[in-house]
Amino acid sequence: EIAEGSLLYLDNVHRAFDGFKAINGLSLVLAPGEMRAIIGPNGAGKTTMMDIITGKTKPDTGDVIFEGKVDLTRHDEAEIANMGIGRKFQKPTVFESHTVADNLELALRARRGPFATLLHQTTKAEFDRIDEILETIRLTARRDWLAANLSHGQKQWLEIGMLLAQEPRLLLVDEPVAGMTDDETAETAALLRRIAKTQSVVVVEHDMTFVRELGVKVTVLHEGSVLAEGSLDAVSSNPKVIEVYLGR
Ligand code: ADP
Repeated sequence: EIAEGSLLYLDNVHRAFDGFKAINGLSLVLAPGEMRAIIGPNGAGKTTMMDIITGKTKPDTGDVIFEGKVDLTRHDEAEIANMGIGRKFQKPTVFESHTVADNLELALRARRGPFATLLHQTTKAEFDRIDEILETIRLTARRDWLAANLSHGQKQWLEIGMLLAQEPRLLLVDEPVAGMTDDETAETAALLRRIAKTQSVVVVEHDMTFVRELGVKVTVLHEGSVLAEGSLDAVSSNPKVIEVYLGR
């Protein structure tokens, strides 16, 4: 039925913490190759939604289906990561004392599993992939820099590159532009648009300038379910959305 042909399908998902309904009848469909922005006031359930998709939290009820067939509620966090769902948390976690290229090499090698990581040299194909990712994240000129010497924005891009090394089919990104300059914010929107040509992307974000730059369909969460969905212009002129953001 409707889950078929979708990349991600959430239907009537519920999750309560000690009786508090953090997710309360959430339904959401993401098409293959789609980038979606998720917005909503604090406490709307955005983080819990991401936790449910990645298996960090299990829903009480409801369907969470990946690629039209895989029931994610039956898998743990590590299995879901291996299926090709990558998550970028808000804070960058790169290896500061390694170079940019080495960070990507470590991420690529980690993908092979713990033993292969130790036993084999990095292959030509893997070095080519590192070059490709450096181009995508626009850090080719910084490849031999220690990650510690990158700007905050560049560290975020490097971490996105490390996730790309895992070849995800869905990338979840949590507030990527928090703490970035305006230029870095614009660069990040461009980067995610480049990535979204080959991967599906879900971005949780508060910065409306950035959401506008992404130029994608927006889902507004409120009290654990979808309040509105559509273009940023459409949702931001929706009276229900205005009330939630301004009317209190
Ligand atoms: P958002 O990311 O949109 O700010 P969250 O998903 O973090 O919203 O939180 C939704 C609500 O659920 C909040 O009121 C939060 O306090 C509550 N909540 C989230 N996770 C937990 C948890 N592990 N234990 C108890 N309450 C939680």
